[in-house]
Amino acid sequence: MQSHADHDASGDGAPKASIPFNRPYMTGRELHYMAQAHGAGHLAGDGVFTQRCHQWMSERTNAAKTLLTHSCTAALEMAALLLEIAPGDEIIMPSYTFVSTANAFVLRGGVPVFVDVRTDTFNLDEGLVEDAITERTKAIVPVHYAGVGCEMDTLMAIAKKHSLYVVEDAAQGVMARYKGRALGSIGQLGAYSFHETKNVICGEGGALIINDPAFATSAEIIREKGTDRSRFYRGEVDKYTWQSSGSSFLPSELSASFLWAQLLEADWLTSERLALWNTYNVLLAPLERRGLLRRPVIPVECEHNAHMYQILVAADIDRQSVLQRLKEAGVGAVFHYVPLHSSPAGRSFGRAHGDLPVTIDISSRLIRLPMWIGLSDSEQQYVVSTLERALTGNA
Ligand SMILES: *Cc1c(COP(=O)(O)O)cnc(C)c1O
Repeated sequence: MQSHADHDASGDGAPKASIPFNRPYMTGRELHYMAQAHGAGHLAGDGVFTQRCHQWMSERTNAAKTLLTHSCTAALEMAALLLEIAPGDEIIMPSYTFVSTANAFVLRGGVPVFVDVRTDTFNLDEGLVEDAITERTKAIVPVHYAGVGCEMDTLMAIAKKHSLYVVEDAAQGVMARYKGRALGSIGQLGAYSFHETKNVICGEGGALIINDPAFATSAEIIREKGTDRSRFYRGEVDKYTWQSSGSSFLPSELSASFLWAQLLEADWLTSERLALWNTYNVLLAPLERRGLLRRPVIPVECEHNAHMYQILVAADIDRQSVLQRLKEAGVGAVFHYVPLHSSPAGRSFGRAHGDLPVTIDISSRLIRLPMWIGLSDSEQQYVVSTLERALTGNA
């Protein structure tokens, strides 16, 4: 097979490669299970494949209940409903995250209070959280960036002391652990994503992990348009009726059957990604020693899932020109996030706790390298050698 990194001698002499940033991996069994759902004629949610996915997630997390949703965003919205977030309630979260972390609470009138992140993991800085708590604070939403666990013991202790809820945004954390515990299984609630850019996928999908059993029944009702249809399906009531406010948060069996194929291979998917991650980590060590970049830091208590490989370019290097050179060489590298506290919606809906210097610094220096199953050794070498030339200005 021809490598994507092969040089094209016919052009202007510049290497021509095409290494996309992401390529969704499919195990080969997805259509098989989708055909079963098709054959069974049960296409709406909560059929046998949804049940299998629930059982898998419950076993992996030891949660009181797990519920598939059509996205992680939906699971976070359910969390905001379950916590009865009301206008003016404050929710402590990082600014360095995806918009859904904040949006789910803003939809209920909640006010995101953006706290800075740690310099090592880019996770919520637990040392700054207590100072951001006010009379209005209702919850803390730690985001496990890159599938590396936040300092959950400290965060849970702070939450307990101040009677706050903890909702883990574990969108990137499927199959990762903190002190042996699955990410998403530590706070009262956790949220997973199965979006095609994540590790385990079904296109668009997610899950709510319910660790506090007090939320189990109401979560079921909120997810089924505010009805007790789930109890009706189990034969616990003879009709189902409107019980509370709610929405439609459940995915169809077509998504669940696709996801089932992926969950069966979740251990393998994770080990493949870890191998890619380790290859980058070895190849990039000399560049770190030369002061050109910083590699990811994984605290000893965290077992990560190789969701992404991100680097910080040295402060005196212009990231935009590095990205431009990578692009010209056919390497699909990207940056993120535009800090929420400095974005138009973040400024109008939330507030920053302090100046967030770490968030501002890393958001201007971070680059994510291509990471997907199927990426070859030679492609990774090509990414790294191209990056080296871009960082040293010798492209
Ligand atoms: C991907 C992601 C989400 C949103 O996930 P969807 O399933 O696309 O809704 C939320 N939070 C974080 C941190 C994410 O990375």
